[in-house]
Amino acid sequence: MNEAPLSVKLVVCPACGGPSVYASSNLFRPFCSERCKSIDLGAWANEDFRLSAETPLDDEVYGDPKSSDPKLQQGFSSR
Ligand SMILES: [Zn+2]
Repeated sequence: MNEAPLSVKLVVCPACGGPSVYASSNLFRPFCSERCKSIDLGAWANEDFRLSAETPLDDEVYGDPKSSDPKLQQGFSSR
């Protein structure tokens, strides 16, 4: 029990889900290693690029039909 120092805090590595040392000695925290940090950064960069490119399309496809559905508007304004 004395082998594990209480001052070391372990967190879950966001990249691999494994234990990561959350301390100043771990330069890649909250990641467990440099590899996991670079993997996560790469994923973020890719996702950010995809999101900014696809969001306008998604908004048009899923958002417009509801607000501009002729049937819905007719049901409300037909007298
Ligand atoms: Zn990791």
